[in-house]
Amino acid sequence: MSVADFTRSIEAAADQPTALRSRITDVLTRIADASRAAGRRPEDVTLVAVSKTVDRRAVDAALALGIRHFGENRVQDASRKLGDPLPAGACLHLIGQLQSNKAKPAAALFDIIESVDRPSVIDALEKAAERNGQPLPVLLQVNVAREPQKAGCDPDQAASLMARLAQSPSLTPQGLMTMAPLVADPEDARPIFAGLRTIQHKLQRQFPAADLHTLSMGMTNDFHIAIEEGATSVRIGRAIFGP
Ligand SMILES: *Cc1c(COP(=O)(O)O)cnc(C)c1O
Repeated sequence: MSVADFTRSIEAAADQPTALRSRITDVLTRIADASRAAGRRPEDVTLVAVSKTVDRRAVDAALALGIRHFGENRVQDASRKLGDPLPAGACLHLIGQLQSNKAKPAAALFDIIESVDRPSVIDALEKAAERNGQPLPVLLQVNVAREPQKAGCDPDQAASLMARLAQSPSLTPQGLMTMAPLVADPEDARPIFAGLRTIQHKLQRQFPAADLHTLSMGMTNDFHIAIEEGATSVRIGRAIFGP
């Protein structure tokens, strides 16, 4: 390693926590501003730091700065990368598409599965959670924009899948998740977020025994719009951990 490389790596290491601290502060400020502007309380919006592109050291640095919720999109990558379990009080969210054959490790590793979108996954998760002897919180992912190739159930299937979740002995449905289409102007994502909230209200009326309080929607580009439309959980990667 050249002296120049060494100096650069020291500087990068010394800079890392400061950069992370200022990015987290910035995101929390923007969450609070968007909440207040919408007449909502900032504490009613949970920040899920999406750590899929970073290693355990960055997760630990974020934990040290007070972040408690982390999102990962692949079961095996997360398990390998994170190694030791996260400390008590931390909560790991699966936000990427789940294959039925990964349901068992997913149920063991994650505290909540946000990407439930079809009967085969529900069946597999239900069995895995039953074996664990612990109810598993889940969100139903809805493809509100009906984008082909995109994960999430069709809005027309949401009620039948929720009926299945609501009577599950081992899964606890807590609400809905969606991913808005990639658009240049985040304003264009607003109807998608409003659409998920409409589906939530309908399902809550239809399944009064379930507590469908969570609306997981909004990412780096569009979380302020999602909060205005009722997001209770925002999943943010790049604005926290860098591009
Ligand atoms: C990567 C990812 C995010 C975070 O996206 P950013 O644009 O980095 O904030 C949120 N949700 C899901 C499902 C993701 O895969």
